[in-house]
Amino acid sequence: MKIASVIVDVPTKQTDRAFDYLIPEQWHGVIQPGMRVVVPFGPRNIQGFVTELKAESDFKKLREIIEPMDLVPVLNEELLRLADWLTENTLCFKIFAFQVMLPAALKAKYEKKVKLAAGRVIADLPEQLQSFFENEGMLDWEEALKMGLVSLLQRESAKGLLEVIYVVRERVKKKQRKFVRPTVTLAELEVEINRIPVKAEKQRQVLRYFSMHFNEIEVSKLIADVKTSASTVKSLVEKNLLTEFEREVYRDPFEHRLFERTKPFPLTTSQQTAIAPILRAIELNQHEVFLLYGVTGSGKTEIYLQSIQEVIEKGKEAIVLVPEIALTPQMVHRFKGRFGDLVAVLHSGLSAGEKYDEWRKIQRKEVKVVVGARSAIFAPFENIGIIIIDEEHETSYKQEEMPRYHAKDVAVERAKNFNCPVVLGSATPSLESFARAQKKVYHLLSLSNRMNNQKLPSVDIIDMREELREGNRSMFSRKLFDLLQDRIEKKQQSVLFLNKRGHSSFVMCRDCGYVMNCPNCDISLTYHRVHEQMKCHYCGYESHVPKQCPECNSDYIRYFGTGTQKVEEELGKLLPEARVIRMDVDTTGRKGSHERLLTDFKDGKADILLGTQMIAKGLDFPNITLVGVLSADTMLHLPDFRASEKTFQLLTQVSGRAGRHQLPGEVIIQTYTPEHYSVELASHHDYDLFYQREMMIRKAHHYPPFYYLSLITISHEQLITVVSATEKIANYVRSHVSREAVVLGPAASPIPRINNRYRYQCLIKYKREPNLTKTLKMILDQYQKDTKSGLQVSIDVNPFILM
Ligand code: ADP
Ligand code: ZN
Ligand code: ZN
Repeated sequence: MKIASVIVDVPTKQTDRAFDYLIPEQWHGVIQPGMRVVVPFGPRNIQGFVTELKAESDFKKLREIIEPMDLVPVLNEELLRLADWLTENTLCFKIFAFQVMLPAALKAKYEKKVKLAAGRVIADLPEQLQSFFENEGMLDWEEALKMGLVSLLQRESAKGLLEVIYVVRERVKKKQRKFVRPTVTLAELEVEINRIPVKAEKQRQVLRYFSMHFNEIEVSKLIADVKTSASTVKSLVEKNLLTEFEREVYRDPFEHRLFERTKPFPLTTSQQTAIAPILRAIELNQHEVFLLYGVTGSGKTEIYLQSIQEVIEKGKEAIVLVPEIALTPQMVHRFKGRFGDLVAVLHSGLSAGEKYDEWRKIQRKEVKVVVGARSAIFAPFENIGIIIIDEEHETSYKQEEMPRYHAKDVAVERAKNFNCPVVLGSATPSLESFARAQKKVYHLLSLSNRMNNQKLPSVDIIDMREELREGNRSMFSRKLFDLLQDRIEKKQQSVLFLNKRGHSSFVMCRDCGYVMNCPNCDISLTYHRVHEQMKCHYCGYESHVPKQCPECNSDYIRYFGTGTQKVEEELGKLLPEARVIRMDVDTTGRKGSHERLLTDFKDGKADILLGTQMIAKGLDFPNITLVGVLSADTMLHLPDFRASEKTFQLLTQVSGRAGRHQLPGEVIIQTYTPEHYSVELASHHDYDLFYQREMMIRKAHHYPPFYYLSLITISHEQLITVVSATEKIANYVRSHVSREAVVLGPAASPIPRINNRYRYQCLIKYKREPNLTKTLKMILDQYQKDTKSGLQVSIDVNPFILM
């Protein structure tokens, strides 16, 4: 096997295939499928993934692999197969499928260097350049730029003395720490202690420590524990009594934190009924998808924990996905509390280095459970016994860039490979999942009551139009305001919930209605108070807030709507005694701040927690007795067929935050459309009726779960080009699908322009189209190969965002 097929790190249509390389003699038997290698590609050296080894190639003149980047494969056989599946099902480039499975730290970084050309020596260079090349005959390009050497370097490279190369570099280094251990036996140690001169008492102390703890120890820890110094340790090393060595340590994001160990609860009767089929599937190594449908607080997580227990006892591993925003310390505590060090945690709050370390714990089989956000579905376990997806309805399980995968689909695919169950949990299952459960494709397990039969909180809907009619212009209804005051007096806590940051903070002229839009993107700019600035969330365009309306010159141009900052200000005026914690993207940007704010709230350092949807999940504090939703409508009016479903899910979720313990809870939902069924039914916690209503609408409009969708988005700087290309594509699709399919378009995208590129789309609704993948691939082949036209075509199979 002297030849390796390699997928190179160049994401274009032309390079989206394996290239053959010769394996140099010294790497025979070392290089294996799933390893990263450095290969020459054109004039550069780049990273690639070995997909297979073979004895022969159809190509004659093969170039040689330069070197392997790994000592063991980073992708095992199952993941390599999964990459094929991912490529086929999401129509992505193979290289993206590999990269998405690995921590960002393993993505190659290329450093541009200037190097002495082959056969040249430093002395060949002009004198003023010589000193720069003493280091391995190479100079960093960035350095060269900084020192203003570029033109000089160019002259020399034109003469053939120097050349520019790209060096592939790992992004992270493994973290090394210094350790010491005794070089002598325990008996000899006792002898040595007495040989140490009395005046070197400090050295004696250190040796005595080792006679009690005859083990290796990190130097810094030794110094702290024995209250000694580095020089003392050093003298003992010099006397050859101790030896010093470096050892890799993991960056543990949860270092210094203790997790109280918990024991499994005896399950309630309904929990027992629900868990039994899961345990059976684990026992029999059977693949099956379960939908665990139960309100918040009904004991789902306990079922996850006990199922995992069973899996671990069988010597297998578990993957648990929770939405990014639900990956709160509380959630992590529950898993670490039960399984301790057997748990790795992966979420976006970790640094690249920390993520890499957690990933390696998985790869080295040092842990049995991974709890993480979407991408944790690719955890490199090799003996998976269960995959759990909590809050399965969450849209964050779908990745919105290549590869556009849904974690649920990947979970089912992997679970089939391992013959193990998948458990999807939710209080408000996605319509797709619930419909599958109804059709017995998924096995439905229900938990209908909260633990200890606590009542769900009572929900009041307030019609904000009515408030306005009666002269209340504030963003708080009278009822909500009274209750907030009441809770402050009772020393109980409230949560105020607002949709997405800045969603409604736009600048509008009150005289003529002019709204400031992004000049590149056709969407309104978002107002940011901190810098008195307007920002576009799509392209980053920024501008100052005008003092006068550019349309009518009126001075009454103001920001409008309610961002979290605005609510905070308003609270400050109306309830000056209230202590408020604001949680949004702005206040939680820094590492650990999310956790700190929550801890403060839990410790009673504030009366009101105000935030965006990031606070809707996972909060479980006994003292919260009031939840207020300031405006339930914001999401209802998005151009998205799932708008009602999302509104229902969100309102139900938020309501679940109140009264989870002894104290009863109350929920206030403020809205301008109280009659809308998703608002109305959420207030009654009536998922079943909501499901029925929504299914009728989906059926009537040919939407999922009755139909599948695929979305083709085309963009270009010229409007005419986009329209005519979309027209061609839509016609091509039409002539290649059955009559049952519906092809919509060309139509302008809901956001018709981003970054000066016009966007058009074609939406395909279909039930069974076995040839559709082939058709879509043809389209991509056609357009992605032709990069000169400037046309961009992207395809989202089962899109979650239709913009
Ligand atoms: P969910 O995941 O459905 O929101 P949890 O599993 O978090 O529900 O359960 C809600 C609360 O009830 C938690 O505080 C949990 O510790 C507790 N709990 C769960 N199962 C039991 C049980 N069998 N006995 C006692 N307490 C339980
Ligand atoms: Zn105006
Ligand atoms: Zn913009």
